[in-house]
Amino acid sequence: MIPFDFEYYKPTSAQEAVSLFHNLRSQEKNPMYYGGGTEIISFSRLYQLFPKAVIDVKGIPECNVLEFKNDKLVIGAAKTLSQVQESNLFPLLNQCGGRVADHTIRDKITLGGNICSRIPFREAILALLVSDCEVIIENKNGIRKVPLESIYTESMLLEPGDLLLQFTVEKNYTVMPFFSMKKTADGDVDYPQDRIGYPLLSGVFLNNKGHIRAAFSGLCPYPFRSLKLEAVLNDTTVSPDEKLNESVQCLPAPILNDMDSSAQYREFVFRNTLAGALDNFEGVEF
Ligand SMILES: Cc1cc2nc3c(=O)[nH]c(=O)nc-3n(C[C@H](O)[C@H](O)[C@H](O)COP(=O)(O)OP(=O)(O)OC[C@H]3O[C@@H](n4cnc5c(N)ncnc54)[C@H](O)[C@@H]3O)c2cc1C
Repeated sequence: MIPFDFEYYKPTSAQEAVSLFHNLRSQEKNPMYYGGGTEIISFSRLYQLFPKAVIDVKGIPECNVLEFKNDKLVIGAAKTLSQVQESNLFPLLNQCGGRVADHTIRDKITLGGNICSRIPFREAILALLVSDCEVIIENKNGIRKVPLESIYTESMLLEPGDLLLQFTVEKNYTVMPFFSMKKTADGDVDYPQDRIGYPLLSGVFLNNKGHIRAAFSGLCPYPFRSLKLEAVLNDTTVSPDEKLNESVQCLPAPILNDMDSSAQYREFVFRNTLAGALDNFEGVEF
């Protein structure tokens, strides 16, 4: 049970949602956009969030698109991870999102919610980080379209009232060869087997005509794509063993050391995952 009362709104347009947000904010109701609600509900139960109003985004048509339009895949922010997975339109995203929580919870968790999550894993963003994703955002000044990397560093850099509408990815990225792996404290999460667990390491590798792109969650305090690390992975003058050693030096933050795993073990898993990815792409022709 949520131990306080709050107002619930379900607007039918993005403009209405944004205008409601600012209205409610001016009344100091600490409004929050509401996707699947799993995080808002869990944190409210724990007295870690106190929205006096939530704005459900699932009635907004733009947030519910999931299709190819011309040469772009358009995914609405209110689409659940299960819907994205079942559509099978972007297999790498299916795998990243399909390993979050279990099937029942993925029926609730939305792509927008996962990416804006306070829980720092945000695994679905990995597929979008390596695929030149663009994000369509509505706010009080109208709609803007921006590259994901321009509004994501350690988390999404959104202004109050910014509403994520859609993510778009060029079709060619959705069919590139990839390798992905999630390891939890219980072991491998073999897609599509259901096993709940935050990642010790979730890694994705996309092979763009022989150039490997990579992004990780669980290793450092936030998900990241590192161009420096990719330069090492793609350096043909460096041996595979040297690549593993140099990659560890390219991480953007210290490796996490917590109750789930020591930093040393996470580094071991990271090295194994890199070795697996390099092996996987060995001999692939483009
Ligand atoms: C049991 C369980 C297991 C989990 N396991 C994993 C895991 O293995 N890996 C992983 O990555 N995550 C995991 N999570 C975390 C989960 O992905 C996040 O909590 C996520 O935020 C939930 O999505 P939601 O749609 O329910 O978000 P909500 O609770 O609706 O919202 C979360 C945040 O996103 C904001 N938001 C939602 N939609 C929009 C939008 N369109 N525009 C702007 N802001 C928006 C909300 O305002 C809020 O701040 C797990 C969560 C649970 C409950």
